[in-house]
Amino acid sequence: MAESKDYYKILGVSKDATDEQIKKAFRKLAKENHPDAQQDEAAKKQAEVKFKEINEAYSVLSDKTKRAQYDRFGSNFEQAGFGGQGGYYSNGFGGFDFSGFNGGMGIDIDLDDILGSVFGGGFGGGFNSSKKQGPTKGADLRYNMNITFEEAAFGTTKQINITRNEKCSTCGGSGAKPGTNPVTCDKCNGRGKIQVTQNTIMGTFSSVKTCDKCGGSGKIIQTPCDTCSGKGIIRKSKKIDINIPAGIDNGQAISLRGEGDAGKKGGISGDLFVVVNVLSHPIFKRKGYDIYADVKVPYTKLVLGGKVKVPTLEEDSEINIPEGTQVGSVFKIKDKGIPNIHGKGRGNIEYTVKIDIPKRLNDKQKDILRQFADLMGEEVKIPKKGFWSK
Ligand SMILES: [Zn+2]
Ligand SMILES: [Zn+2]
Repeated sequence: MAESKDYYKILGVSKDATDEQIKKAFRKLAKENHPDAQQDEAAKKQAEVKFKEINEAYSVLSDKTKRAQYDRFGSNFEQAGFGGQGGYYSNGFGGFDFSGFNGGMGIDIDLDDILGSVFGGGFGGGFNSSKKQGPTKGADLRYNMNITFEEAAFGTTKQINITRNEKCSTCGGSGAKPGTNPVTCDKCNGRGKIQVTQNTIMGTFSSVKTCDKCGGSGKIIQTPCDTCSGKGIIRKSKKIDINIPAGIDNGQAISLRGEGDAGKKGGISGDLFVVVNVLSHPIFKRKGYDIYADVKVPYTKLVLGGKVKVPTLEEDSEINIPEGTQVGSVFKIKDKGIPNIHGKGRGNIEYTVKIDIPKRLNDKQKDILRQFADLMGEEVKIPKKGFWSK
């Protein structure tokens, strides 16, 4: 029987910690120790062990019944058979992977929370730790890409460089040195599981757990492949051309099937998701396929009417301002907005009229305006005398 572990110490909380405190501590540690957030292989290995330990501690301390049992009997109560959940034992804590988050072990955690920290910098792999039985699908990968407003509108091609797991070409993914073959595990006879019998104060209990010698695969690689050290996969960077379709919007993703991490033991590859972040435009705002801009029009043109030059995503255009146009009026140019991503036409451009007030006028201009105001029956402030008489 393994030595009893101090789950409270692992999570860094006191023995009388509340559920909330335990949850908080776990989230923090899980983020810090996420294997895919680590830089090098050694740190990753270390983080994996720690990550597993944290999850083990949390799965017990977050469950009222288990926590009470743990407080009485220590961490071995699980193996001794007090856990009380069918199917729990065969998983043990040895084969933890993401599926644990989604059910299985009943851990209540927001997956996005953890992924967020990993993906944050632009690129991250899913967590593919140690589920060793049979083929495993490769992790989906996410790449965050910045594109300009115009690139989103009209589409473009961009080359990205991603680092991902690829099947080792030396051993073809088997992990065994070419010319050698994995042999059947002698501890579990190739079954990948072993029966464990334990004597406890409550009696003798028998449970099935993953074979620790072969990690559940049922096979042992005696002569590992030199290229991949027996893992069957290697980290490789690859350049991929990404076609950005015209009309794509902020936050939308382009998915590339099978361009994620390679699967293990013949499992299929994950997918690659390129998520676009559309940079803002100095003039236009976008909503769906329509775009919006303000246009400044001189006072006189608003009053008398006329043509006004306006920007579009392509060459400049003109709108007709009728006599007596009010500030805030909206003018539309049809079919000059963002092309529909499904190829069905384009959105519109809407211009909101703002007024362009001249900051400086000469005496003559002011004088004429005053006369105008007078004709309109408006009262206008007369400047101080000395100035006027000059
Ligand atoms: Zn290899
Ligand atoms: Zn085995």
